[in-house]
Amino acid sequence: METTVANYFADHVWLPHGWANQVGIGMNERGALSAADVQSARGDARYLGRYVLPGMPNLHSHAFQRAMAGLAERQTNPSDSFWTWREIMYAFAGRVGPDDLRAIAAQLYVEMLKAGYSHVCEFHYLHHQPDGKPYADPAAMSLALIEAAREAGIGLTLLPTLYMTGGFDGRALSERQRRFGFDVDGYLALLQQLVKMENAALRIGVALHSLRAVPERAMRTVLAAEITRAMPVHIHIAEQIGEVQDCLALRNARPVEWLLDNLPVDARWCLVHATHMTAQETQRLAQSGAVAGLCPTTEANLGDGLFPLKAYINDNGAFGIGSDSHISVSPVEELRWLEYGQRLATRHRNIAVSAMSHSVGETLHAAALRGGAQAAGVAAGVIEAGARADLIVLDESSSLLAGRDEASLIDTFLFAGNANLVRHVMANGEWVVRDFRHRDEERIAARYRDTVTRLAGIS
Ligand code: ZN
Repeated sequence: METTVANYFADHVWLPHGWANQVGIGMNERGALSAADVQSARGDARYLGRYVLPGMPNLHSHAFQRAMAGLAERQTNPSDSFWTWREIMYAFAGRVGPDDLRAIAAQLYVEMLKAGYSHVCEFHYLHHQPDGKPYADPAAMSLALIEAAREAGIGLTLLPTLYMTGGFDGRALSERQRRFGFDVDGYLALLQQLVKMENAALRIGVALHSLRAVPERAMRTVLAAEITRAMPVHIHIAEQIGEVQDCLALRNARPVEWLLDNLPVDARWCLVHATHMTAQETQRLAQSGAVAGLCPTTEANLGDGLFPLKAYINDNGAFGIGSDSHISVSPVEELRWLEYGQRLATRHRNIAVSAMSHSVGETLHAAALRGGAQAAGVAAGVIEAGARADLIVLDESSSLLAGRDEASLIDTFLFAGNANLVRHVMANGEWVVRDFRHRDEERIAARYRDTVTRLAGIS
């Protein structure tokens, strides 16, 4: 029998079906919730505040890219695109070692927690030394990310990424891509090593970098391996028109179409971006039960295009949000721009609503909590018995929330102003952010500053 080690109480708590009032929340010794009781008496439970939400899962991150945010905003060519950005990114990636990665990721994860993300899916392909040779421990870079997440206190789904070829035609990796490369046996051995470390705050999953970087046969071998059977599976897909054209030319199908036709895509899968889809692909992806991994600020920054959100919501498609390149680290901004992109494209307002709610904020927020947790493969993003204790307490004293009630609270949280309303954050049963401050933010920030200054070559 599990014992409840802490009892909390809040006036309004976001439960799976929406707001509930006067909620008692119990937590056990494993950092999981033991109860969420509506209309309970406060008794001697500790008062959390007026508004409590689940922590938001972040379903797509390349941690090292946090340190290059802002370095790719100068025009190098009138036709700058994702592909010219990628060259700058590769040059930066070539300088990051395990200690650097740990320092950058810890800083990023502190920023995520302060913004209200309590779990992150790390799509990790920076595996080897810059010349492509494995480190003495081939898991060195993975371990750096695990250690960074532990230091910051954020939940982690680590997705070591299989990356084998430089294009749909199967060409070899370029010099700058060499440190990403694994063969299938080496990759499965890495998963074997890492899966032994799984715990309540750490899950291991599979990432296939993209259709252009992993041959079909390798995908099938990895997915058939016993160790991957129950793991989340993530893949980048249809982010760029160039990728759609290459896929059509070499496989006679569009990327999402090809994936759905050839691999067993189901609720374990997260298709990251899925930007360029036909109406039929959109409907089929929704019906597959997979999660669309949407990264609106990065997709805007890279000039990717717009996801067909309205049609996908109408088909009850699952989706979540990721900060991806970390040009922004805020669930508020991701969800805000997810909606604004649609408004700009359609010249209408209030696009992302469903039969469940006519509130844009509630629709987006509820979907991202659910889809994010599904993609991460963890019991999180929800306040109910058995889920991990990931809680956010909003700053009820903010003038932004004055005159608001339950009906307008989430809309205000997502669409009003720029002040961070996330005041306290509990992740995995621990208070990691109190009164807007992370428990170890000074030390982690100082180490980050030293690291990034050295990497940038500025003294
Ligand atoms: Zn990505």
